[in-house]
Amino acid sequence: MIDRVEVTPGRVRVLRVEPAADVPPGHARVAVAACGLCGTDLHLFEGMTMPPGAAYPVYPGHEVAGTVVELGPEAGEDLPVGTPVVLHPLADCGACSHCLGGHPDQCAGGEVLGLHRPGGLASEVVWPVSRMVAVPGLDPRHAAVLADAVATAKRALDKAQLPDGGALCVFGAGGVGTHVLELARLADPTARLTGMVRSASSAVRLRGAGYEAFVRGTDLRPYGPFDAIVDFSGDPVAPALAMRNLRPGGTLVFGSVLEGDLALGAAQRLQARELVVAGVYSSSMQDLRAVAELARSGALDLSGSVTHEFPLADAREAFRTLAVRPPGMVRVVVTVP
Ligand SMILES: [Zn+2]
Ligand SMILES: [Zn+2]
Repeated sequence: MIDRVEVTPGRVRVLRVEPAADVPPGHARVAVAACGLCGTDLHLFEGMTMPPGAAYPVYPGHEVAGTVVELGPEAGEDLPVGTPVVLHPLADCGACSHCLGGHPDQCAGGEVLGLHRPGGLASEVVWPVSRMVAVPGLDPRHAAVLADAVATAKRALDKAQLPDGGALCVFGAGGVGTHVLELARLADPTARLTGMVRSASSAVRLRGAGYEAFVRGTDLRPYGPFDAIVDFSGDPVAPALAMRNLRPGGTLVFGSVLEGDLALGAAQRLQARELVVAGVYSSSMQDLRAVAELARSGALDLSGSVTHEFPLADAREAFRTLAVRPPGMVRVVVTVP
């Protein structure tokens, strides 16, 4: 029997269930070592409109690191049993025009780990080997956050198209946003990097790491205008605030999980100043490989990324912490003893 977290709106339970009997072709069974929680998991817990193909109850966990313990048929030889891996949270269909056109990350029919298929808040998970990256020598808690908190941050930064020495502001510099700042500094030490956060203690954390930081509700104008603003704040008014604080031709990269419509403010501002709005959802395998390499080489230090840690048996407490969002929180990680 294995442990697996089940979520329905307002309820988190740790179940004892039968493990998957067989590992399908091209898949591996992974013993989970660590699994990060993110805003999407909180939305699942609070009750969100489910995407096509997904329904409650859900078995969450899409930031997963562990060890390959069994290979299905046709799983290749790249990731033998015993390999420490991080899982990319999207399994592409391999057959649609996006997949065939070289953009499996934009697959319309793909499945999300922890949404369409049982995720990593469990003792084990079964997932395609083509969506795994080997991470030898990396702390599994750090490997776990690579999957979404860091890889999605890389994708957001790429979409920001920051010029050399450019000014970037991250709204909601928490779990994902903090990594946007860190990756931006690695890519260009001369970039001017600013974070907007909810609490004074988070601002202190960012300033301690060498970034400009201000608390939400503060006047941004002394800090801007910005070449790009990346929004992971989850605040419905943040996109319009961003539009008012971009330079002409600047880019808003929108990555918040929000129900309802996106409010951008005055239409003429976007049109007359030729602003760009780009969405960011997840990442590609290349993104995940790139950030895994940065972490393994030591260039990217993830030691401050995991601020709260719970064993799987205390998953309910982990969700409660995620909902309360204590000051200074970056990532909540559940570990499997
Ligand atoms: Zn996520
Ligand atoms: Zn596809």
